[in-house]
Amino acid sequence: MSGAPDLILEAREVSRHFANAGTWFGEKRVVRAVDGVSLAVRRGETLAVVGESGCGKSTLARLLVRLIKPTAGEVLYDGRDIGGLSEREMRSLRRDLQFVFQDPFSSLNPRMTVGTLVEEPLRVHGMGSRAERRRRVAALLQRVGLRPEFADRYPHEFSGGQRQRIGIARALASGPKVLIGDEPVSALDVSIQAQVINLLEDLKEEFRLTLILIAHDLAVIRHMSDRVAVMYLGEIVELAETDALFGRPLHPYTQALLRAIPVPSPRRRASAAALKGDVPSPLAPPAACRFHTRCPLATAICGEKKPALAAVGEGRLVACHHWQEAAGQAPELRSEAERTSAAARRFALYRDRSEQQERLRTAAAAGSTTP
Ligand code: SF4
Repeated sequence: MSGAPDLILEAREVSRHFANAGTWFGEKRVVRAVDGVSLAVRRGETLAVVGESGCGKSTLARLLVRLIKPTAGEVLYDGRDIGGLSEREMRSLRRDLQFVFQDPFSSLNPRMTVGTLVEEPLRVHGMGSRAERRRRVAALLQRVGLRPEFADRYPHEFSGGQRQRIGIARALASGPKVLIGDEPVSALDVSIQAQVINLLEDLKEEFRLTLILIAHDLAVIRHMSDRVAVMYLGEIVELAETDALFGRPLHPYTQALLRAIPVPSPRRRASAAALKGDVPSPLAPPAACRFHTRCPLATAICGEKKPALAAVGEGRLVACHHWQEAAGQAPELRSEAERTSAAARRFALYRDRSEQQERLRTAAAAGSTTP
C-alpha cells in the first residue's frame, strides 16, 4: 500500500480571472481573483483557507464546487475532472458537494418555510417519498438543535445563529461528502459562533464529512482545522499542518497575519505594524513575489523572480525566496501562537457550557429554543 494521502478534491493550477468594465480609454482590465492555485484536500480532513479579504479565498471555494467555472486549470473530485461534466451530471454531483454561506439570512429564501428550505435538496435530487422527506427534515432540524415544529415557520422568525443552523441542516439534507463553509460563523455573536463551530465539528464526525473552511478568524481556524492554506492576492503562499503553522510560521505573510491578531494590550501596536500598507489591487498585482511591496524581508530578487510554492519538509509548502531567514524569526512569534491557542480554547470552554445548557434544556423539556 502506498503512503500517498487519499484525496477527495484537488485543484490543479486553477485560475479565475474576471473581466473588469475597463477604463475611460476603453482599456480592458482583468481581476486575477485566483491565479494558478494547486491544492489537494484529503478525505476526512478539515482544511482551512485563510487570508485578508479580497485574497481570493471565497472565489477558490466556489471554484472547488463549480459554483463558478475556472478560467484555466482543473478541479478533480474523487479523481474525476468536474470541469467537463454536463449540468445534469453536475446536479447529481452536488449531492456530494455542499456549501454553507456566510450570511444565513440572504442565503435562505424568505418566502419559503424552513421545512420547504431543508426539504428542497431532497426533492431536487429525487430522494425519498414525501413522507420520508418530511421525517428527514424533522430529524435534521432536531440534529442541528432546532425543534421539528419550526418547519412551518419562516427564516425571519429566527435569530442569526438559528438561521445558520437552518442553513447547515439544508446543506446536510442530501448527505454530502464535502462541506464548504465560507466564513460560516463570522456574522454571528462570539458565544453563538462557538455553538455553531462545535455543531459543525460534531456533524463532521457523525456524517464523516470533509470540511473546507474559509475564514479569517485565526482562533476559529486553529480550533477547527487539521491543515491551513494561506492565500495572498490569489495565490497560496504557505500550506502546513495547523500546529506547525501556528507554532512556526515560515512565510513572512503568515507571520504578519499572526502578529496582527488583535489583543487588548498596549504593547500590541508595535507588533501589528509588521504588515505595511493595504493589499495591492488584484487588477495590477505586484510582479514576481506579490508580497514584496509589503514584506519586511524583501530583497531585489523578490521583485524579479516569482518564488515557487516548494516543499520544505514535514509536508509543508512555502513560496518564499528567504523562508529560512523568515523561519529564524518564528520563535519570537510563539507568544502570538499561544494567544491564538488561548482563543481557540475558549471554543472548547463554550462547548462545555453548551453541553451543560443542553442537558438543562433536555431536563426542562419543551418550551425553550436554541440560540
Ligand atoms: Fe518576502 Fe521575498 Fe519571501 Fe516574497 S519572496 S515573501 S518578498 S522575502
